[in-house]
Amino acid sequence: MDDIARFCQMVNESQNIVFFGGAGVSTESGIKDFRSVDGLYNEKYDYPPEEILSHSFFFDNTKEFYRFYRDKLLIDGVKPNVTHYTLAKLEEAGKLKGVITQNIDDLHEQAGSKNVYHLHGGIDKYHCLKCRKGFGLDYVKKTKGIPYCDCGGILKPDVVLYEETLDDRTVSESIKLISSADVLIVGGTSLVVYPAAGLINYYRGRKLILINKQPTPYDNYADLVINKGLGEVFGALKLV
Ligand code: ZN
Repeated sequence: MDDIARFCQMVNESQNIVFFGGAGVSTESGIKDFRSVDGLYNEKYDYPPEEILSHSFFFDNTKEFYRFYRDKLLIDGVKPNVTHYTLAKLEEAGKLKGVITQNIDDLHEQAGSKNVYHLHGGIDKYHCLKCRKGFGLDYVKKTKGIPYCDCGGILKPDVVLYEETLDDRTVSESIKLISSADVLIVGGTSLVVYPAAGLINYYRGRKLILINKQPTPYDNYADLVINKGLGEVFGALKLV
């Protein structure tokens, strides 16, 4: 049996699957991976993206932060791909219990997924730093430069920036989901960056599937390793 056939079998046999996804899930929709060779880190900007997308830079240089943020992260016309749609279908069929993602886009939601945990927050939500009022992406898109609340306060994206800690509730819900999963599919992440590596240590089952184009430090712990693109693997999934 080849690796994709084994993948199909494991998915078909389980009613309790959890998916943990990294940048590779979104790159096939045309969103750039911050850490990959041809990702944003190699693009010319006044500061490295890692510095721009940090907590201190946001407060020290809000205008420059939003110039980069609007230019690189608020991209129009990005659509979910076969991986997002297949995961939504698996959830609808009652087989997938949730998606945990490191991505800040809302492609899983656009594809129809309901139970999605964004470890790094999302570009779809904002709040006023003065009165805490919440705003959506549509509001921010209609503004230019730094977006402001009607009270005059600056809006900050609900994205976990560098130097910031993850949301406790999102982390504990993710741990709960992972530790009770029958099948854990980890896809599109090299598993070298916190918190991905730490979180999958909570998995207790014997059906850990890793799908990533390159090898990861966890390959030896996995029950199935597929070094292929996610779209190729999820595109080949046939539910019985
Ligand atoms: Zn306000």
